[in-house]
Amino acid sequence: MNLYLSGHEERYAVEQCLLAFFPDERPVFCPGPMAPGAEGVGSRLLRGSARVTAVTVICLNGRVSRGAAYAPAKASDDVERARARRGALKLSFYRAACLATGRRPPWGALTGIRPAGVALRALRAGGTRAQADRLLRFRHQVFPRQRFLCLEAAETARAIEVSLAPRDISLYVGIPFCPTRCAYCTFVSHSVEKAGALLPAFVRALCREIEIVGALCRSLSLRPVTLYIGGGTPTTLSAAQLREVTGALAAHFDLAALREYSVEAGRPDTVDAKKLAVLSARGVTRVSVNPQSMRDDVLATVGRPHTAADARAAYTLVRRAGFPVVNMDLIAGLPGDTPAGFAASLAEVMALHPENITLHTLARKRGARLTRENRPAPGPDDVEAMLAGAYDRLAGARYRAYYLYRQKYMAGQFENTGWARPGAVGLYNVCMMEELHTVIALGGGGVTKLVDLARGRVERVFNPKYPYEYLSDFERMCENKARIRRFYETCAETR
Ligand code: SF4
Repeated sequence: MNLYLSGHEERYAVEQCLLAFFPDERPVFCPGPMAPGAEGVGSRLLRGSARVTAVTVICLNGRVSRGAAYAPAKASDDVERARARRGALKLSFYRAACLATGRRPPWGALTGIRPAGVALRALRAGGTRAQADRLLRFRHQVFPRQRFLCLEAAETARAIEVSLAPRDISLYVGIPFCPTRCAYCTFVSHSVEKAGALLPAFVRALCREIEIVGALCRSLSLRPVTLYIGGGTPTTLSAAQLREVTGALAAHFDLAALREYSVEAGRPDTVDAKKLAVLSARGVTRVSVNPQSMRDDVLATVGRPHTAADARAAYTLVRRAGFPVVNMDLIAGLPGDTPAGFAASLAEVMALHPENITLHTLARKRGARLTRENRPAPGPDDVEAMLAGAYDRLAGARYRAYYLYRQKYMAGQFENTGWARPGAVGLYNVCMMEELHTVIALGGGGVTKLVDLARGRVERVFNPKYPYEYLSDFERMCENKARIRRFYETCAETR
């Protein structure tokens, strides 16, 4: 669809709005204001001394729909002014698109992957939950259930945020290997069938990176308070390789202040007692076993070579090893699943009493085998029924939503949510998702996020995605980590 911007260059914001209402359209940015009679979207920003006015005109099949929104021209700083401008542009788009399509998406004019951010900023500024709720309702047109999720996540994040010290960080270690590739996955992970020969060299290089970055962090007095080994599937590594990696982490980082140590053992077919004994001896506190569905036919359809019985057996092993927190993931909207089937999967998972349950919604990513094969999946109404029923059941069993995020290409206008029993919130997930502090990433596909809350600044440092790039670009990647030192030398460090 043609997009004409005038008075602003907020391409990303307009593109996100387009995707929310017209997911099959691709944006084509055209020069100049939209000419009368042209088809497409015109997005215009008018700046006055007291307020800015955003106007969106959508012309589709000869029918014209208009929306307008306002924002104060004055704000505390440039970051806030830009945020207000973007908010007005999105709201004007939302109003025009509701008229053009006759639909009102439940997330309203909120786009982006961190919908709880609006409420968190309001709480941070001293606002109450009720004030944050009104902001979401009136300025962003968010529906009640979605507002509730945002407020729960924002309150959890705020409570964690005030408990953090300026040099507290999170550590992420990416192991980009899985035993095989699931059909819905476009993640950078490589199946060991194809790239297994690289594993020993990858582990050696990772341990070297841990040594280099550990020394850097110690010299800057950066204290990991959460440590997350993810991927991929870290338990694709052998027990000896897990011992090597976790040993390097213990040797080179100061882990005395660690509050949570998480390891993804996502694929039940990678879990065994020997690996779990290594993790337990290293002080791991949280392990994820991810069935995604407890229906064998659905698992087969999405290319996961394990059964629900395998997931139960892996869970039993993890429980026996004595980890304080176990997480289990499910995905709503998988091909072949139904609302009743999803409810049965959730009931089976809940009967195991994991402390955390994470509910994902299927994202139909372009590169995934499932998308290429065009397998029919449950429609938005079915996914809505799956999630609504699940949220009710989880809340009724004393789970509380503690973090959420959204992705592109999700089935309909949905979200991913993490649920926790009291006292079992996944700290890393909150710190990382709400950018409460710096996350230093090591390993394949890791993205270091250097967070300066005082200036609203986030800098990213990327590790190579694929195992062979990780190995071939290793020296350059390690040199790039010098940016961490430069960042902390200029960081305002107030909270
Ligand atoms: S286990 Fe996760 S990362 Fe690995 S292939 Fe499946 S979806 Fe992708």
